[in-house]
Amino acid sequence: MIQAKAYGVNDSKALFQPMTIERRDPKPDDVVIEIAYCGICHSDIHTARGEWSGTQYPCVPGHEIVGHVVAVGKKVKKFKLGETVGVGCFVDSCGKCAPCKSNEEQFCEKGTTYTYNSPVKEGGYTYGGYSSHITVKQDYVLKIKKGLPLDRVAPLLCAGITTYSPLKRYGTKKGKKVGVVGLGGLGHMAVKIAKAMGAEVTVFSTSPEKAADAKKLGAKHFVYSKEKANFHPLAKKFDLIIDSVSATHNLTPYLQTLKIDGTMVLLGVPPEPSQVVASALIGGRKRLTGSLIGGIKETQEMLNFCATKKVFSDIELIGADKINEAYDRTVNGDVKYRFVIDAKTF
Ligand code: NAP
Ligand code: ZN
Ligand code: ZN
Repeated sequence: MIQAKAYGVNDSKALFQPMTIERRDPKPDDVVIEIAYCGICHSDIHTARGEWSGTQYPCVPGHEIVGHVVAVGKKVKKFKLGETVGVGCFVDSCGKCAPCKSNEEQFCEKGTTYTYNSPVKEGGYTYGGYSSHITVKQDYVLKIKKGLPLDRVAPLLCAGITTYSPLKRYGTKKGKKVGVVGLGGLGHMAVKIAKAMGAEVTVFSTSPEKAADAKKLGAKHFVYSKEKANFHPLAKKFDLIIDSVSATHNLTPYLQTLKIDGTMVLLGVPPEPSQVVASALIGGRKRLTGSLIGGIKETQEMLNFCATKKVFSDIELIGADKINEAYDRTVNGDVKYRFVIDAKTF
């Protein structure tokens, strides 16, 4: 067993504190990674604070992981010692069911093993990337091109793929108008990626002070979403809306801004249900749908796309002792636009 340094919580109200966790020695197909950086996703916060049911404690979150290979199992062919790699939201799946066979392991019928808080066959639960090391099967490890700013790459492993996947699926390209609701970790990546795909982007935000940033990130328009009147001129304007809001909110005004056959994709997972007025969908045959991260193949495609287009996250790099503060600031919408933990500080 490998003794890894980590930061975790012992219950939903507890503060993060240093702990030691065990990582398995590499099996023939495993890669051992020394973590360099790990992003803080709002899903980490929902989980650590018990906002979704089923959190197992102690909980060590983190699924935006970048690091270097420090050991490999006997059968590992894909990775070499020293190579720069990434790990995203899941670390195993059955590999045999229809979704796994079609590169959508996030929908594994036997249950995807998420990077943290998922049961492990041998007993216990997975621990995530707020730690010094992690052992992962090679098929669930991503390649990161040389020479990239690794701290700014880490958030691509969740925020990047979660926004890239629906943007691509629903045909984002030049001539399309895309709305992004919520300018946080996911939202700012949605803006950058949609812009890189050629779309005209509008940001809907509850934070008027983010207007200048939205433009810098690549948005053409900024809409202060707390002012109802701001929605009136936008009726039937958008082909696609990506909603990344982490809290319960009214979806109806956004549906009204979609064109006929337009699509609104929910990415945020507020603990409470959001309201929808049926007529907002019916008039204009609009689609309200959701999207969950992306499979390994698409995640690799996204990493290559972002490397080519030079699309990386805007981050605040912190030491592990600042995780508690970073959680509070993220919940208060005070992050530009992703906190990333320097793993040297675990
Ligand atoms: P984040 O950085 O906290 O961003 C969320 C943004 O939502 C905030 O910056 C804020 O933007 C807006 N917001 C927050 N509270 C709001 C409220 N009460 N009313 C309206 N807007 C509000 O979070 P994130 O890491 O991007 O994650 C966002 C959500 O996506 C979370 O629920 C997370 O669990 C989920 N998620 C889903 C997937 C998936 O696969 N579907 C993957 C990762 C994360 P403004 O200040 O601009 O309004
Ligand atoms: Zn995430
Ligand atoms: Zn499967």
